Amino acid sequence: MDVNQLTEKINSTREKISRESNLNCITADLTESASSQLSSFNVHGTLFGKTIAIKDNLNLINTPTTCASKILDGHDSIYTATAVQKIIDAQGSIVAKTNMDEFAMGSSNEHSVYGPTKNPHNIDYVPGGSSGGSAVAVAAGIVDMALGSDTGGSVRQPASFCGVYGLKPTYGRVSRYGLTAFASSFDQVGVFANSVEDTASLFEVIAGHDKKDSTSAKEIVEPFDYNESATKKLRIGLPKEFLGEGINPEIRQALTQKVEYLKDSKFQIIDVSLPHTEHAIATYYILTTAEASTNLSRFDGVRFGHRATSDDLSEMYLYSRSNGFGDEVKRRIMLGAFVLSSGYYDAYYTQAQKVRRLIRDDYTNVFDEVDVLLTPTSPILPFKRGEKLTDPLQMYMADVCTVPMSLAGVPALNIPVGKSKMGLPIGLQLMGNFFQREKPIWGCSVFGI
Ligand code: GLN
Repeated sequence: MDVNQLTEKINSTREKISRESNLNCITADLTESASSQLSSFNVHGTLFGKTIAIKDNLNLINTPTTCASKILDGHDSIYTATAVQKIIDAQGSIVAKTNMDEFAMGSSNEHSVYGPTKNPHNIDYVPGGSSGGSAVAVAAGIVDMALGSDTGGSVRQPASFCGVYGLKPTYGRVSRYGLTAFASSFDQVGVFANSVEDTASLFEVIAGHDKKDSTSAKEIVEPFDYNESATKKLRIGLPKEFLGEGINPEIRQALTQKVEYLKDSKFQIIDVSLPHTEHAIATYYILTTAEASTNLSRFDGVRFGHRATSDDLSEMYLYSRSNGFGDEVKRRIMLGAFVLSSGYYDAYYTQAQKVRRLIRDDYTNVFDEVDVLLTPTSPILPFKRGEKLTDPLQMYMADVCTVPMSLAGVPALNIPVGKSKMGLPIGLQLMGNFFQREKPIWGCSVFGI
């Protein structure tokens, strides 16, 4: 592809954005600025020719970054996130910002100041969340690839609901600099794409140590190398905790079929156990709300976005936050403030930290026995808009298959494996040990993908 062809491609992306506007997946069309950068591009960058959308919680200088929240209404970024800068350096074309659940809190993309994003497979259904806009932009063919963020499943679950690949790297693999913080000890920038190759190539561009994020890992990012003989020897673990009652029968059937196929192909399938899995949801919602309540204290109407008017300073803070945040975000701030409050801190926060360690130990132990783990990505199929909106606990349970890996910090990948009788996508999740994202990616070839 040359620069003229890429200009054409970006023009057609602009048309697609407007043609697919009913999906409500794009919050800012950046095709003009993407086109204007092309004159400085040569054709040697790894991502040259790729159109890429980024979730609206990732900063790109001089463009709106609102985290789909009223409290950031009118806020333009004053700097660029490292992951985003690396895409620009690799000559990827950033063409849009994408819709999301407010501050990345949610599993359905219904908690957004821009209104809900729709699932392209059936517009009455949710696309998953919180990176629903990125998943939809890739699934609908508006862009080649997208960035999201995954704190407890926000890349993998929408990837599963929309039928695309979605990779959450090992915690610390990708710099969090410029990613608006939700729960800092969980947050990871992740990748959406329509193929394993595109997933791997975007990951390789954004991964690596960054001195601006002290939690980013120093491990070298080896170029992805498909190793056929190593792939044939992969020991695949099936954790029994992910096969139980709560899993939708059509999803369970998709998993069983894959397992039969793997057995027929002489792969070693090992039944394993991750015994602390049942505590994952409670642990996750204690720790992430605690972290969110402190991270979101910076949004006070003074430095960013929306400010309520009042002559009284305390009232100005109060009204800015009360009017600026949506209900789900306020619910989490209150829960977080509660679990951190004196008298409850040890009973909830300290206890949850201990359980997190046990969950992490489950994973370190199991990876002595197997190379990858295989589970459903979501226990349920995409659901109708409005179906779970009034029952937060039900919405939280939708994360039951993705939050354990976020507590542990291991890499996990959604792979699209088929569709339900109603034509809604089904995804399975492959996980590897810390910094071994190549194993889940090799795992895809196990399925002939
Ligand atoms: N759905 C989960 C939550 O609401 C995960 C969110 C995320 O990964 N950002 O917390």
